[in-house]
This record gives sequence, structure tokens and C-alpha cells, in this order.
Amino acid sequence: MASRSIIPLRAVEGEQTVRVVAPESGAPHAETAMSAVHGPAPLPANGKQFHIWTIGCQMNEADSAKVASLLQEVGYRQTASEDDADIVVLNSCVVRQSAEDKVAGKLGSLARLKRTRPETRIVLTGCMVTNQQEQLRKRFPHVDLFFDPSDFDRLGLVVPELARLEDDLAALPHYYAPAADGLEPAEGYRKGVTAYVPIIYGCNFLCSYCIVPYRRGRETSRPLAAIVREVERLVADGVREVTLLGQTVNAWGHDFAAKQELVTLLRAVDAIPGLDRLRYLTSHPMYMTDELFDVMADLPTLCEHLNLPVQAGDDTVLHRMRRRYTRDHWLERLQYARSRMPDLTVATDIIVGFPGETEEQFLQTYAMLDQARCEKVHLAMYSPRPGTLSARWEDDIPHAEKHRRHQVLEKLQERIGTEINERRLGSVTEVLVEGKNKGRWSGRSRGNTLVHVDVREDTDLLGKLVDVRITSATPWFLIGEAAGAPR
Ligand code: SF4
Repeated sequence: MASRSIIPLRAVEGEQTVRVVAPESGAPHAETAMSAVHGPAPLPANGKQFHIWTIGCQMNEADSAKVASLLQEVGYRQTASEDDADIVVLNSCVVRQSAEDKVAGKLGSLARLKRTRPETRIVLTGCMVTNQQEQLRKRFPHVDLFFDPSDFDRLGLVVPELARLEDDLAALPHYYAPAADGLEPAEGYRKGVTAYVPIIYGCNFLCSYCIVPYRRGRETSRPLAAIVREVERLVADGVREVTLLGQTVNAWGHDFAAKQELVTLLRAVDAIPGLDRLRYLTSHPMYMTDELFDVMADLPTLCEHLNLPVQAGDDTVLHRMRRRYTRDHWLERLQYARSRMPDLTVATDIIVGFPGETEEQFLQTYAMLDQARCEKVHLAMYSPRPGTLSARWEDDIPHAEKHRRHQVLEKLQERIGTEINERRLGSVTEVLVEGKNKGRWSGRSRGNTLVHVDVREDTDLLGKLVDVRITSATPWFLIGEAAGAPR
């Protein structure tokens, strides 16, 4: 077996340094009032505390957990006593009269609290709030905020630390304005017969660990016509494979006055005569629609490769990363994609040692990767980036522990890579040859796997498409011999 190949590089999506490890109720309404402690271990405090009182179904339980998590993200600590709290949240239920009476009784006791500590913010959410706010305001004037359970953003009205986060996005500049001034920004970079073409700059997501939106601004898409012109020029100049680039490449077109979707651009680029291969990276799981996968499956130039960062396999960690999807969403997207493209290869990104990540949460990531069986995993040990939200939290996982988790996932990926690549022995795969490596020609399959090709010394394969029969497999790359004339 060849020696281990771990390639240092920067993640395209976020700015954590990574190394590639690769081939290369409705439930019964419980009428028990609760002061449960929800969510992950508290993050470094901002000196403020919150208290949540929940009654009702499991949906209310879940909503309360989300409120707790939001407040903990911005440095609040949970307290079991409303008397110590800066914010008291009541999550109400009206499905039975007895539950509604309990909420009313609790609100009455909070009126007394508000008289003695007027600075305490009282918040009411849950079923009692929907469509009744005027009446509620008259009945409970000591409540500072009523919010519908579907509208968590309103919490920012009484939690300035949350409002600031949303303001961060609004304040981000557009660093690129190609559509506005009619100019085309600098072209992508080219290496032999492959080229990278930026199609969207910036990012609107504000993941809690990522500096990209602060450095590169809000999403700004290049116009379709400018991208097509650039690819046409590249193809006329001998480029055979183009990768469309963006931090969230599948948000392309969302910022146009008349919103467009990436599929429109993919169809236009695919139709350029002479282009052999088309790729795009990096995608955000929130924008991976069925239509996008259907188009990938149908367009002949689009390679069967998906770069879909997940970052963690635990929903609490994902929530604190502000990734806006769950583990199940990511897995379901993979399942759909593979149902449309059985040969699809998948790469993903993982951060280990995120603040507060418990061993159980890490093991969820392990189990998810074991289930997902990606061809490639970009692993990063968490490190705080000044200016981001998570940099305000304690970096509480010791470096040695981050390193251990990193190694555990490396080992897992080594096993998965071996299993995947050994199944390719004897198969024939198309390789676009990009150069020579230790006497062998090397290139990438449509699935983006590194393939070394054994041929006679005097054969020049540079820039050619070659069908290669796989004769040897490692966890990180394949070796094979030409099985047909290069083209
Ligand atoms: S989606 Fe998140 S991780 Fe990716 S660039 Fe945007 S803020 Fe960073």
C-alpha cells in the first residue's frame, strides 16, 4: 500500500484549515409545568441569565430547547429560578383549560416579579400567542414580547445580542458589484485543460465559526452572460473541464432583482460546444433542491461528483454552528442525489472540537460519516477566528482531544476509502489527464478521484481523456492502465 497522502489546503467553503483525508405531538399533552434545563452545556457567560417555563406537548419542548440554544449561543446562562433571570420565557399551551389556567397563573406571578425587578424581560410564546396579541397585551401588560413559535427572530427585540447578529448581515458590504457597473471581475484561474471560474462572491450565511462573510461580504453573483462568455473563451483556448466556484455556489442568482437558480446557469454552460466536463463547488445543503440533482443527472457534461459540507453530525452542534439544517436533512439530500446518480461520489467537510462538542456529539458525527460513506472528507480541527460569533465562546476542547477526534475520523475514512476503491478494481473509468507524477500520468475521474495511469514511456496523454481499467486501489487514489485510445 502506498504511503499515506494528506494534502494541506484551505476549505473553499469556510476558513478553517483542513486536511484532506481521501482516496487521496401531537404527542400527548403533558400538563406538567417544567423548568427543565435545555440544550448544550452553557457557553461562556455574558453575565446574563434566562429561565424557561414550558407546558404542553413535545413540540413546545422542542421550541423551548431552540430558544435556550439561541440564548446560550450569545452568552446567556440558564437558571432554574425566574428570580435570578434577566429574561423569563413562558412557552404556553391552550389545548386544555387546565393548561391555559396554569399559564395565566404563572403570568400573574410574573407580574409581581416585574414590579420588584422591572428590568426583567418577560416573553410569552407557544399556542396562546397566535392571533391573539392585542387581547394578550391588554390582559398581560407586564409582558415585554409576545412571539409566535414560528417567528423566533422576534426574540432579537428583547435580546440585543441576537439582534446584533442579524444586523451583522445587513451591515455586510457587497465587495463585488459586477452587475451594477457592467464590469466583469478578474477571470478564473486555469491549469492546463482545467479551469476554475468564480460565479458568486461572498456569503450570506454567517455560520458561527466562519470569517468568510466578514471578509468577502454579501453574496454577489456574476451575470450569466459574463460567465458563459468566459467559459466559451476558455474552451476555445483548449480547456476541457470547468469548475464553477463560489463559497455557496448554489446560491448563484438569488441576489438578482429577478431571482435565478443555479440550474439555469448549468444548462447554459453545459450547452457550450466543446466543453467535456463541468463541476461546481461548494454547495450549501439548504439549497440542494431536487431540481438541482435532477439537472445534474441529466446534463451530459456535469460530473457525478458532489461537494456538500456537513461540518458535524449532531443537531445541537449544527445549530450552534448556525448551519440551518439537520443531520437528517443532509443525509436525505445524499440519498436523493444517489437515487438519481448511482455513480455519484461525495466529498464533505467536518470540523471536530467545536466549542462544547461532547464525546456523544462527536460520536454522532462518527456514526453519520460511517453511514454516509463519502469518498472524501476534509477534516479540520476547530480554531476560533477573531470577529466570528464562536470566537466569543470558550474554545474548551483541548488541542490533544481535537487531535484525537481528528485521528479517529481519519482512520474511519481510511477504512471507508479502502472499501470504496477496492470495489472499483477491474472497472473502467474515464480520466482527464492533467500531468505526470512519479513517471505515471495522473488525472481525475468524473467522480473526482485521483487516478494514476501506467502507459509506455513515450506516450503523451497530457490533456487527453482516457478510459482506464483500474488495477490497483489505495484509500486515496487508484492506479490503472489505458483501456482504449486517448481522445
Ligand atoms: S456557508 Fe457558512 S461556512 Fe460556508 S462560507 Fe458561508 S458562513 Fe462560511
